[in-house]
Amino acid sequence: MRFVLIFLLFIASLAAFSIDVKNDEVVRGATAFVEFSTQRGIKYLGVVCKKKKFPIFKKPEDGRHYFALIPFSYYAPVGIKKCRVEYLNAGVKKERNFTLNVLDGNYKKEKIVVSAKKVNPKSPKVKKRIAVEYKEAMKIYNSITKKSYISRPFILPLESNITSPFGVARLYNSTLKGYHSGTDFHAAMGTPVKAANDGKVVLVKKRFYAGGTVVIDHGEGIYTCYFHLSHFKVKKGERVKRGELIALSGKSGRVTGPHLHFSARICGVQVDPLQLETLLNTNLLKGKQ
Ligand SMILES: [Zn+2]
Repeated sequence: MRFVLIFLLFIASLAAFSIDVKNDEVVRGATAFVEFSTQRGIKYLGVVCKKKKFPIFKKPEDGRHYFALIPFSYYAPVGIKKCRVEYLNAGVKKERNFTLNVLDGNYKKEKIVVSAKKVNPKSPKVKKRIAVEYKEAMKIYNSITKKSYISRPFILPLESNITSPFGVARLYNSTLKGYHSGTDFHAAMGTPVKAANDGKVVLVKKRFYAGGTVVIDHGEGIYTCYFHLSHFKVKKGERVKRGELIALSGKSGRVTGPHLHFSARICGVQVDPLQLETLLNTNLLKGKQ
C-alpha cells in the first residue's frame, strides 16, 4: 500500500500542468485566452509571445486555474505563433512552448471623407497636442493593475445598432490611415453611455481625435474606452460599477456624425472589444450575473 502511494506521488510529481488554449485560432486584432492548471511547486511567471511578456493571473472563481490573455495587434503577421509559458518549478526557472494560429481577419475597407485639416493637422500646436495625448493614453494602457475589478460578465455600453465594426480598413480622403480601432454604435446626441464593467476611471478628457474620452481600467491589463462623448458623468479616479452612467454620447473629435466609438486594450494592445467581451464572459466570468 505504501509502495503504491509513493509510486502515485512519484507519478504526480512528474505530471506536468495543463495548458488549455481556449481559442487557438485567433484573428489579427483579437485576443486569445490561455488557461493553466494549478500544480504543486509551480509558480507561473508569464507568457512570452514574440518577445512581449504577458502576465498570468489566478482565475478567481475556482482557485485551481490560472489564465493569460494574449492580444494580437491588427498588424500581427498571419501564421503559427510560438509562445512559451515561463514558470518556476521548485524555484528553478523553466519554460514550456505552445502555439497559437493567427488568422487574417478579412476586414472590410471603408472610405471616409472628413475635413483635410482633421486628417493631416499642419499646426505645430495641434501636432504637439496629438503627441501629448497619445503618450498619455499609451502610458495608461501599458500599466497593468495587478488586481481585478471585475466579477460579472461585460455588457455593451449601449443597446444600439453597430454602424461600423472593429477592424475596417480606413481610407480617409482616399489615403489609407490605418484601421477602425473600435466598434461604432449608432447613438443620437446625448444618448446615455454605460460602463461595460466594474472598474476605475483613469482618463476623462477632451482629445483631438477621440473627442470627449472616458477610459476605464478593469484591472489585470484590461481597459475599455468610450470616445466622441458630449458630456462626462464621471471624474478621473472614480470607481464605477457595471451599467453605471459614465457619459452622454456626442460627435466630438474626428467624426462625421454623432455615434459612440467603443474600444478595448489588453496590456497596451488595441483589440476587438466585442470579441474580448465574449471571450472573457465565456472563459472567465461564466455563470456570474
Ligand atoms: Zn469608431
